[in-house]
Amino acid sequence: MNSTIRAVTSDPSQTAFGFKAGRMYAPAEVEGGLACDCSCFGCGAILVAKKGQKNRWHFAHHKVEIGVTCAESAIHAAAKQVLLEQNWLTVPKLTIVVSSQTKLGLMMQESSTLCERRTIRFERSLPEVWERNIRPDVVGYRGEKKLLVEMYFRHKVDTDKLRKIADLKLPSIEIDLADMDISTGFEAITQRVIHDTAFKSWLFFPNEREERHRLRMSLAKRIRRANNEQKAKAAADKEREATRQRKLHEDRTRREAAAERYRQMSPEHKEQDLRERLGIVGRWPYYLQKESVGGSAISEKAMIWQAALFARFIFHKANLGYDLKQSLIFSWVLDRFDTGSSSIEAVNVEVRRYLGYLCACGFLRKLLFYRHEGQSYVVVHGELAPPKRVETAKEATHQIPIAARPTPVALGTHEHWIWRASWPNWSDISEEATRLIASSEYGELLEALLQEISPVRHPREPIECAEVMRAHGVPQDAVMSFLEKLGLVLTTTLPGRRIQP
Ligand SMILES: [Zn+2]
Repeated sequence: MNSTIRAVTSDPSQTAFGFKAGRMYAPAEVEGGLACDCSCFGCGAILVAKKGQKNRWHFAHHKVEIGVTCAESAIHAAAKQVLLEQNWLTVPKLTIVVSSQTKLGLMMQESSTLCERRTIRFERSLPEVWERNIRPDVVGYRGEKKLLVEMYFRHKVDTDKLRKIADLKLPSIEIDLADMDISTGFEAITQRVIHDTAFKSWLFFPNEREERHRLRMSLAKRIRRANNEQKAKAAADKEREATRQRKLHEDRTRREAAAERYRQMSPEHKEQDLRERLGIVGRWPYYLQKESVGGSAISEKAMIWQAALFARFIFHKANLGYDLKQSLIFSWVLDRFDTGSSSIEAVNVEVRRYLGYLCACGFLRKLLFYRHEGQSYVVVHGELAPPKRVETAKEATHQIPIAARPTPVALGTHEHWIWRASWPNWSDISEEATRLIASSEYGELLEALLQEISPVRHPREPIECAEVMRAHGVPQDAVMSFLEKLGLVLTTTLPGRRIQP
């Protein structure tokens, strides 16, 4: 009946190979039905070859229940038969790897390949021959050499047998057949047993133990060396850090002691000291005693802290090739002079204002402001007397008629400038800029200024541009109106004052 035939696909009585006259056969190789003349390799029962239209061809047990291992025994026998008949196989690559960690967790490894994936052709191969106290499925021979082959379904070679194989010291591989079932034919078995290496593994390989031992020794030596190096490096780092800390501490102590000694000096002594250091004879230079309008945040007299600052950072220090950081000057002032209850910000404002003044006088040049680096200066004139205006004009690459230079205007009395929050696109103002630069007698300098500023890189106050430019002989009006016409700054009138048109 049709229904019965269809059910055969899941019939547990199926087996893939029949046994006849010492050999395994697939259904296609024999007559159908009982005429196949085959028996079960597992239990010896008579088999019927089923070669119908609908189901995969197979053998069924005739009139008896199939045994639990009958199907597996048949595939196992067929696999051995294939190897014995082909008389060659491909063996997998054998690489051994040993690895370990250093004390600091660095992973290290050593590896060695004992055997490449390769084909071995036997002169002959035999099933089930005794090798001392074990009987491998197949032994392949080639000259003096032997290869033991085990095939397994459910149980891999156990430790007892492994030990016996190791005692023999013969190369041995194991082939995994565990996933093969009733659908397995000779073709699949040939692929598995002869060609593939994915289901093969080495059970024993001569000298593997010795090689593994050699790798472990070699690795241990490398680990020891790495540990020693790491230890030495850690010690050196620690020593270096200790030295650095000691030096920092010594520097700090020395600085504090110097500051303290300075604070203890009498006002007369301080003045005398500065006269000697700067070579001041007679009248105290006006630019070293700029009084702060509305009281100073620094308790020391202006003439003292300003001359001391000048002596420390500017005097004989022109063009030394390094930048003078504003933050360094701030901390020096705070270390050295009494600032009473003034806030640090108030002290900074005062120092910054004085540095701006020294820029305007031509001692310092303010560098571009980079937010992450802070403001810096370079000393451009390190003599006690300020640079003469004429000299500045001569040094400049362009020629400005001295008579045409207007008198500097007092800064910030009537007008106040602020940067516009957003600047116009360069493409929109480049034409206007070119025109302004071409029509101004300070064109080159204004062009240079324009190249130095950007929406994210400009002095805190627009007026500082004018202070810097004034050192080059450019009047404040020329700078500020240039910036205003380009739409970079806004003018605001200070409260209570009006600017006449
Ligand atoms: Zn059977």
